[in-house]
Amino acid sequence: MRIPIIAGNWKMHKTVAEAVAFVNQVKDQLPPADQLQTALAAPTLSLVPMVQAAAGSPLKVMAENCYYQDEGAYTGETSPYALYQAGIHHVILGHSERRNYFHEDDELINKKVKAALRNGLCPIVCCDDTMARRIAADDKIHWAVNRILADLKGLNEADICNVTVAYEPSWAIGSGQSADSDQAEEGCYLIRQTINDMYGEDVANNVRILYGGSVTPANARAMMAKSDIDGVLVGTDSLDPRTFLEIVNH
Ligand code: PEP
Repeated sequence: MRIPIIAGNWKMHKTVAEAVAFVNQVKDQLPPADQLQTALAAPTLSLVPMVQAAAGSPLKVMAENCYYQDEGAYTGETSPYALYQAGIHHVILGHSERRNYFHEDDELINKKVKAALRNGLCPIVCCDDTMARRIAADDKIHWAVNRILADLKGLNEADICNVTVAYEPSWAIGSGQSADSDQAEEGCYLIRQTINDMYGEDVANNVRILYGGSVTPANARAMMAKSDIDGVLVGTDSLDPRTFLEIVNH
């Protein structure tokens, strides 16, 4: 059984004090993790204080990125090993903002996915498509599926079971223009079929696939009702504790 996930992605928002206050506000209002998992990705500076604030609650704290080496002379990077040791066991990789603003390509993301798994971190691997591809309608999902093939290249079956994939059309991220639930389901379904082709049916049935892109309290329920959508990755509407909790309680 795939336990659904509601995951927030704060991007470069909130001070440490604001992040801790948010955790303290929501942590006692979350469902048990065996019914619905809840997670928040936050800037690196806030992660350890958030883990401390969330202790004993179902809330998981996630990094928004990490490097592909465990340690070394890589100024400014975040070690996946150090994250794990600090109690951060989840990381978002391949977000479209990392790809677009920081020029991360599939080869680099594939290395980061392997480094995360090697250190015990469970990655949420994001896979987007572009407005140009959306206009060339028939091509758009194929492009996203190719991306997933590249990002997950070389992983074995045990690895892939610790990976969550997020289908995030880039035109829907932060635009207020969500995919409708049928489009979102189509993307998630095709990604699952791709994983099926790569690893077989058992693995494909166990891997969780999320939709992300302008999810709000108003559309979360329709997304979560789809059979191939195992949860949502939420940017803007995860920043306010009320909207985050409304999405959790969809
Ligand atoms: C995101 O950043 O992953 C995201 C989905 O953002 P938003 O919900 O604001 O579209």
